[in-house]
Amino acid sequence: SVRAGIIVTGTEVLTGRITDQNGPWLSEQLLELGVDVAHITICGDRPADLTAQLRFLADQQVDLIVTSGGLGPTADDLTVATVAEFCGRDVHLDRALEEHIAGVIRRWRPDTVDLDEGPTRIGIRKQACVPAGATAIPPTGTAPGVAIPATAGDQPLPTILILPGPPGELQAMWPTAIASPAVADVLSRADDLQQETIRAYGLHEAELAETLRRAEESVAGFDALEITTCLRRGELDMVTRFAADDSATYGELLAFLTEHHGRQIFSTDGSTIEDQLIATLDGRLIATAESCTGGLIAARLTDRPGSSAYVMGGVVSYSNDAKSDLIDVPAELIASHGAVSEEVAAAMAEGARRRLKSDVAVSTTGIAGPDGGTEAKPVGTVCFGVAIEGRPTYTITRRFPGDRERVRSLTTTAALHLVVG
Ligand code: ATP
Ligand code: MG
Repeated sequence: SVRAGIIVTGTEVLTGRITDQNGPWLSEQLLELGVDVAHITICGDRPADLTAQLRFLADQQVDLIVTSGGLGPTADDLTVATVAEFCGRDVHLDRALEEHIAGVIRRWRPDTVDLDEGPTRIGIRKQACVPAGATAIPPTGTAPGVAIPATAGDQPLPTILILPGPPGELQAMWPTAIASPAVADVLSRADDLQQETIRAYGLHEAELAETLRRAEESVAGFDALEITTCLRRGELDMVTRFAADDSATYGELLAFLTEHHGRQIFSTDGSTIEDQLIATLDGRLIATAESCTGGLIAARLTDRPGSSAYVMGGVVSYSNDAKSDLIDVPAELIASHGAVSEEVAAAMAEGARRRLKSDVAVSTTGIAGPDGGTEAKPVGTVCFGVAIEGRPTYTITRRFPGDRERVRSLTTTAALHLVVG
């Protein structure tokens, strides 16, 4: 298989001022191309640190290294020079590239005064320097990328692809970058890898691990599957990677898992609970009445563009007064059953549906903590209501573990699952 390493450069990323977008994005792209990404590392803008990372990945015998960042015109952008030195290649000025970059700047900033001679021109010349034997990839901003072919010999070096830091520029350059001869050559050796995701809700990691142990004994060729599990917001994702030739084995594993956990597995086609909620709504509109989640459900529902097609709106009725005034929960009901009760949850969902004129409404009222728990209703107790046009209102009480943030996040996921049913 073809193995790759990604080096994200930038002191701003290293210090956490900026969250790395390039590592995950590149990793996903490479995976789609059948490349096994072995490492993602982050290093600051110090040449010695970048050299050390290059050395490390070369020693791991990866076939491809992709770097991001450090291609700007300023003195602290040193990636090309550092990589060239690491590879023992001289750099030369590419005149055509220099004029190309100057042309871009002329179009963007026509009033640049020192374009013919001066600091801007010096910066352009720096960016137009290409290592010997390498291919420049035309800039999508001002910084060109560089593809350096692998070096054979006693001390072989992998193919190295150098890309700019700004995510928009990097992503726009990607199609051209992977078509450059050096990179295309590596990619042509990649296997046809497949990746499938199974999502479960209400299944514990330990239970899944136990089932997988048994699957290992009964599914022939199990070892050809690379399985990773990931617990996220109360859902358990299981991602399996395998060569296209092993898809029958994956089919067997899937059958084994559905046989054992069919009730908890809610997705085998990569769809998320949001996707399924939209399908369930099927053109109907949903509203929310949230107490302990404070709008988190509405936020998740409106996460993606186009959500106005299925979201009517939501109410954050946190106080008792807001529950009564905004969505008509009778004060006596709150007094007699308590704000955290299925009766109130039902009244909230029905009130929100009526007030917002939606087809469906979901409500939450609970004790997120750390204070406010009682013996009968400890921290983590949450009551839900689901009101659907033409059906009796459904309510349920759940108890979630963890701190305030966890309880609220688990409540949000649970609400989406309740609506999907
Ligand atoms: P430029 O010509 O813009 O300087 P460059 O290749 O030198 O390009 P950097 O200087 O490394 O890029 O980064 C420029 C900006 O791009 C950063 O300040 C940051 O806003 C963004 N950026 C860089 N790397 C990343 C990353 N890994 N994730 C998210 N944003 C990034
Ligand atoms: Mg820069």
